[in-house]
Amino acid sequence: MTIAPPNPSPTAAPDRSDRSCHGPAGSPLSVFEAVESEVRSYCRGWPVVFDRARGSHLYDEDGHAYLDFFAGAGALNYGHNNPVLKRALLDYIERDGITHGLDMSTTAKRAFLESFQNNVLRPRDLPYKVMFPGPTGTNAVEAALKLARKVKGREAVVSFTNAFHGMSLGALAVTGNAFKRAGAGIPLVHGTPMPFDGYLDGQVPDFLWFERLLEDRGSGLNRPAAVIVETVQGEGGINVARMEWLRRLSELCRTHDMLLIVDDIQMGCGRTGPFFSFEEAGIVPDIVTLSKSIGGYGLPMSLTLFRPELDVWEPGEHNGTFRGNNPAFVTATAALETYWADGQMEKQTLARGEQVEQALSAICEEGAGHGARYRGRGLVWGLEFADRARASAVCARAFELGLLVETSGPVGEVVKLLPALTISPDELDEGLRILARAVRETA
Ligand code: PLP
Repeated sequence: MTIAPPNPSPTAAPDRSDRSCHGPAGSPLSVFEAVESEVRSYCRGWPVVFDRARGSHLYDEDGHAYLDFFAGAGALNYGHNNPVLKRALLDYIERDGITHGLDMSTTAKRAFLESFQNNVLRPRDLPYKVMFPGPTGTNAVEAALKLARKVKGREAVVSFTNAFHGMSLGALAVTGNAFKRAGAGIPLVHGTPMPFDGYLDGQVPDFLWFERLLEDRGSGLNRPAAVIVETVQGEGGINVARMEWLRRLSELCRTHDMLLIVDDIQMGCGRTGPFFSFEEAGIVPDIVTLSKSIGGYGLPMSLTLFRPELDVWEPGEHNGTFRGNNPAFVTATAALETYWADGQMEKQTLARGEQVEQALSAICEEGAGHGARYRGRGLVWGLEFADRARASAVCARAFELGLLVETSGPVGEVVKLLPALTISPDELDEGLRILARAVRETA
């Protein structure tokens, strides 16, 4: 199967450094400023009003095109309004297929489960049961934590420095970012952070501290029910765990009777190459969370997957009104059938990743980067600047030049590249050239 980008590449974006001064979103009297809460965030960095999108481009209401290197924070791995998924959705809506279905059995859910089993679980020999926990990523994380605690009858969960697992209280308790944690307004308990891979710059053997605490009866660490980890920390600064580190973590969990939860909400669905980001490490987590791109079309959907023997839920014990987003099941199925019935998608992502790596390497070698460093896997990459304020300036300049990129990391010191997996080589090249120019022009 050839995976064609869903849209043709437009011409290079002209410099539109005036755009942030214009338009209703930037005006002091805009309805966004007058009515929408101060909590709004992405719209502040991209102060235009978006109207349409297709493939890797968004268009504002004045018709300006923006090349998207953010892909809905990883929710749009197959691009905006992907025509194959759109067709499936339109056909489904047209024939009055079920839209809202609680967790009733529907034809759309059956088709999704069959396709997920045939295209994802079975070929990888993964035995997981599938739970629909509610439509967002944080719902999947809450369900995973709750299940792990119920299975093990213990409260403590170990997470990692710079982890991000969501905004609800359980997920926030295993999230590192101080600003986000402060928003909880109550103590965040029963989570213990351990150093993520590379946190101590390789000066200490992997898991020395963690193992010591587990083995020492005087350490004060309650025996954890589970460990939750991202294989690549997306929000935390594109920190890439080594495969060897992940394997050691998996062994440690087995030895100390802790469940291993891999949060694949941002790095799953092919973002790092294979469907699941942990495949390359050869580990089989006990519990996996998926969301963002699992719905395929940007429609809310999430899954908590677990080994069958962990399925100790009572019927309805973890309920929710929006667990059966049937239109998302339809687009999810179309995405699996289109992109995951063979190994093409993975190969394509790895090839595009090499293209990104070369461009980032060139940026870092140029003097303008001032000691910038890059890292990533598949189609998720980070460009970290020694001057920690620089990444925001680069993103702002990139926006003026018609490229959407965001920062990541505890103080926003990393420019995060997250293009759609369906992006064409030409579009990727265009965006990387804009990025290089933004770096030069903010030096
Ligand atoms: N877990 C990870 C790894 C994430 O990256 C995110 C969101 O960025 C979440 C959980 C939370 O997902 P949501 O924002 O859909 O609640």
